[in-house]
Amino acid sequence: MKIFIDGKFCSERDAKISVFDHGLLYGDGVFEGIRAYNGRVFKLKEHIDRLFYSAKAILLEIPMSPGKISEAVLASCRANKLRDGYIRLVVTRGVGNLGLNPRSCKKPTVFCIADKIQVYPPELYSRGMEIVTVPTARNLHSALNPAIKSLNYLNNILAKIEANNAGVEEAVMLNAEGFVAECTADNLFIMKNGELFTPPLSAGALYGITRQTVIELAQEAGMKVSEPNLTRYDLFCADECFLCGTGAEIMPVIKIDGRIIGTGKPGQITRKLVEDYHALTKMSGEPI
Ligand code: PMP
Repeated sequence: MKIFIDGKFCSERDAKISVFDHGLLYGDGVFEGIRAYNGRVFKLKEHIDRLFYSAKAILLEIPMSPGKISEAVLASCRANKLRDGYIRLVVTRGVGNLGLNPRSCKKPTVFCIADKIQVYPPELYSRGMEIVTVPTARNLHSALNPAIKSLNYLNNILAKIEANNAGVEEAVMLNAEGFVAECTADNLFIMKNGELFTPPLSAGALYGITRQTVIELAQEAGMKVSEPNLTRYDLFCADECFLCGTGAEIMPVIKIDGRIIGTGKPGQITRKLVEDYHALTKMSGEPI
């Protein structure tokens, strides 16, 4: 595998980061997870824009232009002959000293890995997934804003461990007020009486690119979509539920905290959105 790191490609074995990189020492950096389908990179501009906004929010100056970084993503796919896969684009604060002050980091590190991913067992996509609410609350905006896609994922990882401990694959995270925020690496939607609902970004959700795509697909299909605060009660009493993200794509949810959702099978609207989403991924994106 060829890895893009600081402006050039090297082998997987030579793709190394310093132990003094603040991305490793402090989770000080930002990243994107991007997918390629059918020889095109899906929603590349949206991912690059979000990367730059995340960097802006943490005062990290990316040492490449958006155009050059997009080209590095496409070149990573070409170098690995990847037509369908998953791309991890990372910018860290760079090498500094052992103090946490980012002032000691003179040059951000940029790397890009073009590989494959299977986030969840394939059979769950047809059967549907069981999820649970976990005790770890989503980060506060006033502490570490969940809109920043930073390398500091411990909040999500703790929730994921709690889901694992409960014997399920994914967790619903609530915010400090008890409203539904999102899952550990996916946004969440419910369907009730033919309308689609997803928590507002202010509830502590990432500005998910799949979330936005789902909203657009649903609206194109004539569905009403709104973003109110949601409680666990709203999830339990939904007709359908699904989670979505670049890696996960669209995953039907059939049980939450022991409550069966709808009929206990992936819902009709969810299945239609899955179909529309896959159709879109096949025909749009930046050619590799
Ligand atoms: N929430 C979190 C916390 C995430 O890490 C992700 C990305 N895996 C998402 C939601 C989904 O975002 P996107 O659709 O842009 O991949």
